[in-house]
Amino acid sequence: MDVPTALIMSERFRLHDTGAHPENAQRLVTIERHLRSVGLLAGRSVLEPRAATADDVALVHDLRYVRFIEQLANAGGGYLDSDTYVSPQTYESALFAAGAAITAVDTVLDTPIRRVFAFPRPPGHHAEPAHGMGFCIFNNVAVAARHAVDRRGLGRVAILDWDVHHGNGTQAIFYDCDQVLFVSVHQWPLYPGTGQRDERGVGHGQSLTLNVPLPPGSDDDDYLRCFDEIVGPALAAFRPQLLLISAGFDAHRDDPLAMMEVTEDGFRGMASRVRRWADALTEGRLVVVLEGGYNQEALARSVEATLNALDSPSDVGEGPG
Ligand SMILES: [Zn+2]
Repeated sequence: MDVPTALIMSERFRLHDTGAHPENAQRLVTIERHLRSVGLLAGRSVLEPRAATADDVALVHDLRYVRFIEQLANAGGGYLDSDTYVSPQTYESALFAAGAAITAVDTVLDTPIRRVFAFPRPPGHHAEPAHGMGFCIFNNVAVAARHAVDRRGLGRVAILDWDVHHGNGTQAIFYDCDQVLFVSVHQWPLYPGTGQRDERGVGHGQSLTLNVPLPPGSDDDDYLRCFDEIVGPALAAFRPQLLLISAGFDAHRDDPLAMMEVTEDGFRGMASRVRRWADALTEGRLVVVLEGGYNQEALARSVEATLNALDSPSDVGEGPG
């Protein structure tokens, strides 16, 4: 019998106190309240994350950077750049955020649960090896991918990043890696400015970075066409043993930080494809990790649509496509 998608939620993620910043703790409160109101929490497993250790985070970050964040938080906090804030409890929150992604991977590898949707903050995909940026402190998805490869022995892990911004941090971490495929679909031009089509990886990672920049105004049809024609075939060719999603919802047409026209239907379509690809390629093993999404009502409805699609069995016979 198919086990419903499990969630990872925790009050620990609200300790990262950014006040009135667009990336604030209320985002998670709004998501949880909405999922409860539409009945999607009833009877569903909600897991607590474990805390990552400094060594876990150092799978992808310089240990000096990890210590710097710890010391900055202990000293009362401060800004890493004009839009990335560290509050007194951000270090603790960020360890649990990275730990949530690790917990998700271990859950889909070790239990009958095949799919986990985790809701950590701070988000992760802009965080590079030696510095955080773009609201991100530690790169949660990258830590999880490294954990899967280095400690759990997987040979091939794929990361699909559908946040509207390019996942520059994840790209930098795996740019020369032959065990992790990184695919990013994002608005271009937009922050952080990277993610052009000719950024394809180097060395052993040559051709294992795939950037799909889309112009402002791209809508559901544009995204789903890109998923069908580019993302699906790339995943099928790589044959991952685990699929990780950096799931931002800031491509929504109501989002204040970007200029895309995606609706809840678009996210439902993207998630149903991801479920189908996981069923066909990874024995269903799928980890979805929240990144951005700043219109909170649109974010909550998009998460609902995504979760419904993740729960809907696919016809594996169709295969990836
Ligand atoms: Zn984003």
